[in-house]
Amino acid sequence: MRTNVFISGGGIGGLTLGLKLAKCGVDVTVAERLPGPSPIYKGELLQPKSLEIMDSLGAIESVFEKGHKISDLELAELKNLKAESDHSLMSYSNLPSDYPFSLMIHHETLKGILLNKAKKFPSFHYHPHTVCKEIQDHKVKLEDRERKETVEIECDFVIGAEGRSSVTRDHMGVSVNEKKYNHHFLTVTFPRPETMVKGKIISTYQSFLGLFPLPDNEVRSVYLIPAGEYKALRKQPISEFHKLYINMCPELDGYVNEITDWKQIQLMVPLKYHSDTYVKDHLALIGDAVHTVHPMAGEGMNMAIQDGDVLGELLCDMYKLKKLDPANLEWYPKVRRKRVTHQMHLSHLSALAYSYPYRPIGWLRKNSLQRMEKDTVSHYKQMLNISGLGLWRETLHDRTIQGGILPIRSRKISGKEKENTRFTEIQDYPWKETEALR
Ligand SMILES: Cc1cc2nc3c(=O)[nH]c(=O)nc-3n(C[C@H](O)[C@H](O)[C@H](O)COP(=O)(O)OP(=O)(O)OC[C@H]3O[C@@H](n4cnc5c(N)ncnc54)[C@H](O)[C@@H]3O)c2cc1C
Repeated sequence: MRTNVFISGGGIGGLTLGLKLAKCGVDVTVAERLPGPSPIYKGELLQPKSLEIMDSLGAIESVFEKGHKISDLELAELKNLKAESDHSLMSYSNLPSDYPFSLMIHHETLKGILLNKAKKFPSFHYHPHTVCKEIQDHKVKLEDRERKETVEIECDFVIGAEGRSSVTRDHMGVSVNEKKYNHHFLTVTFPRPETMVKGKIISTYQSFLGLFPLPDNEVRSVYLIPAGEYKALRKQPISEFHKLYINMCPELDGYVNEITDWKQIQLMVPLKYHSDTYVKDHLALIGDAVHTVHPMAGEGMNMAIQDGDVLGELLCDMYKLKKLDPANLEWYPKVRRKRVTHQMHLSHLSALAYSYPYRPIGWLRKNSLQRMEKDTVSHYKQMLNISGLGLWRETLHDRTIQGGILPIRSRKISGKEKENTRFTEIQDYPWKETEALR
């Protein structure tokens, strides 16, 4: 068999890239190890930049139909479990986009939307229940577990989109340095009160509960536990789990109780790594294969989508212009590496803010979040940077304002500032301007 681009792994990153290539007529083959949808929880929050990409792929209507829009994130810090909370509200609504909000959608639903769209194109070939076993130069050996046979595919380019354990990354001889955190998360979806429509993060100095509404009156939750405590927790009756949630958010009484067995609850172990190498010869890595991020800022899935978009546009142009020198692939990390580094930094800072169970840290966090909300420049920067739409770096000046040393700014962000800090099409796809493809 022969194809132009072979993608190992049909997760969110692989399918975004696959659809993008199929749409521009490039022959693309995706091999996915799993036979069908997986029950495992993964990223579900789409940031504004990813919504713009879904629009460009012709998928936005289906995404809206199956998703729940979130314009605001409410951050509530409880002094203790009985006390009134201090609130702050971070909002996407001021961002320069047709989509000034995020959106929650079931991970497998989003994959289904991308896959069904891609299957409509004759140049898209999908092999479920098929594992990429070996790469030899331009040949890839696959194990088709359905038919119990080995398949060989010849291709121009191999893209590793296999997530955290990547055969392509191993073949490239690339290793990653994993950083672990001092905490893990319990994560589970259950019914929610109809009125719970905003994203909500509730914390005390020693606990954290994130609530992200899904469609059909469901809510995805993440609850922070110290690393290593999961086994002991699971020995408790499930009512102890209900209590943890209800103590933090009494509104969930009668809802979280729908979870009747620890088996329904998944343990999520946050990790962080960023490979030095994105591209080697005719091979490239996208998504979790090249970088994994702490889930606190809801970026993991978005980074995979945004990688798929940039690499997809590049490969489409290479085929359109018949400029297939693998050296062209270097444009992809030129765009993505700096953006990924910054988003990983933001996620890491958010993780640190909730990592230490001491009262003074809780107090500092509450004060700086409240000041970030009120300081229009800090507020805008934070939401722009997590949205993926642009990059406006935080400065020492911003941090001193958030820390309470300098006064809060209340000036409006001008149209020019928004224009200057939002990525332009040429910043997203810089090779188009320079005609530099070989
Ligand atoms: C357990 C878990 C929970 C998560 N929760 C969150 C969250 O709450 N919020 C958040 O922002 N992010 C979360 N993430 C991260 C987010 O889901 C990922 O960043 C995102 O899914 C990355 O997409 P991807 O396509 O790169 O990789 P993946 O989604 O991992 O997809 C890789 C695909 O490749 C397939 N594959 C692997 N090896 C092979 C092979 N040899 N041959 C063929 N196919 C192969 C796999 O079956 C899989 O379908 C979570 C990740 C995990 C693992």
